[in-house]
Amino acid sequence: MLKSIPFDEIKYILLDMDGTLLDLYFDDYFWGHLVPEKYAEKHNMTFGAAKEHLFSTYKSHEKTLNWCDIDFWSKELHLDIPALKEQIRHLIEVHPHVIDFLKMMRQRRKKIFLLTNAHFKTVKIKFNKTQIGKYFDEVLCSFNVGYPKEYIEFWRGAEKKLKFEKERSLFIDDTEDVLKTARDYGIKYLIFKAKASSKAEPKKTNEFNTIHDFRELM
Ligand SMILES: [Mg+2]
Repeated sequence: MLKSIPFDEIKYILLDMDGTLLDLYFDDYFWGHLVPEKYAEKHNMTFGAAKEHLFSTYKSHEKTLNWCDIDFWSKELHLDIPALKEQIRHLIEVHPHVIDFLKMMRQRRKKIFLLTNAHFKTVKIKFNKTQIGKYFDEVLCSFNVGYPKEYIEFWRGAEKKLKFEKERSLFIDDTEDVLKTARDYGIKYLIFKAKASSKAEPKKTNEFNTIHDFRELM
């Protein structure tokens, strides 16, 4: 259930990209299907064996900057990751009602910041396809801060760069660990985006105010 959000008190809208504004199906399909398929071809192994190997490799780099660095993955896996992303760019989609929400926030003169663990090359591919870049006052990749959003250091760096006031900020993300760190840092208003992928069940949280889609905020 969504407790009402006092938008008059909020000046800064901080938004995650993948899963929150954009359909996580693209990323799930990319890492869970396309990359294992190409890896299997390259190393002459079965899809199942490639998937198993890759999932344990992914896991060992979770919540690190490597995870967010597609150049790292290109080297690590000997695959051209940006080119593969381009190959399935038709799967990059904006979630329902996101554009209306962004337009409304602009009309209400909020500062809108995108805070993402995605690599700037991925952001570029996604902006090209969706044209959502024009709605943001600034885009901050955790790669440029030096820490992923799961770390308090990210938030210190983000506040320094973007100069938001945490008492007057709303942050929306589909990853609970990221919201927890934002809460520890003192971001006052937090929302969990439960429906991250159009093709998966909504995620659950016991701790945060939740939306399934952005219509609930309008
Ligand atoms: Mg996300």
